Formats: sequence, C-alpha cells, structure tokens
Amino acid sequence: MGNYYHKSLQNKKWIEKRKLVLERDNNKCTICGNTQNLCVHHTFYWSNKYCPAYDYPISSLITLCSSCHKEYHLNCETPKKTYVKKVYKKKNKRKPIKSKREKLLDKLSPKDLKNQLRKNKV
Ligand SMILES: [Zn+2]
Ligand SMILES: [Zn+2]
Repeated sequence: MGNYYHKSLQNKKWIEKRKLVLERDNNKCTICGNTQNLCVHHTFYWSNKYCPAYDYPISSLITLCSSCHKEYHLNCETPKKTYVKKVYKKKNKRKPIKSKREKLLDKLSPKDLKNQLRKNKV
C-alpha cells in the first residue's frame, strides 16, 4: 500500500463512506459486537489498481473493533483481487430516484443483504 492510500484515509469521501459502513453494521463490531474503538476494515485490496480507500465498494468494507481488527491482521493477510473493468451497457435513460438508504442497500452484496435482513429489519 502506497502513500496515496494512507492519504486517502484522511479524505472526506472516506470519512463519509466509513460512516455508511458503521451505520450499516449498526455501529458494532461484526465479529464480537463491541461498540467501542471501531474501525472499518477492507476485506480485500485490488492487486493491480491504485485505488484510494474510499473507492472500494461498500460491500467490501466491514466494521471491526480495534482488538478484532488487530487480531485479523495478525492472523490473516488481506486478500488481493484482480480488478477487471466492467463494461456497462446503456439501459433506460432515466434512473429512478432512490433514497440514500436504498442506494446504500443496493451496494451491499446479496449475501450481506440477507444477513442484514435476518439480523434486523432494514
Ligand atoms: Zn470485535
Ligand atoms: Zn484491516
């Protein structure tokens, strides 16, 4: 991870994204449920792309408390993924207007979404 990455952690965009992740995870560590000293952890990094912290999809971010986070990094190395650029086809010109919450839920992976729905009605 280069300097640019550490710098991006000070960026307003990261602070905003971090907030969304904390909100999605109910301001709790997703491992032990601790509500103190929370950090937002990246579940993977792109191996072939310079990507600031805030450009990772929200579904790739999870809330951990500082001790679970430390534990994780002691035991595991964050997996690296190869970035493949997606090509989108033009769909309908008009996009439906979505609420902030809907947009947030859209970004969750289906598995995350299911877990979320099970845990607490979204
Ligand atoms: Zn924890
Ligand atoms: Zn981490």
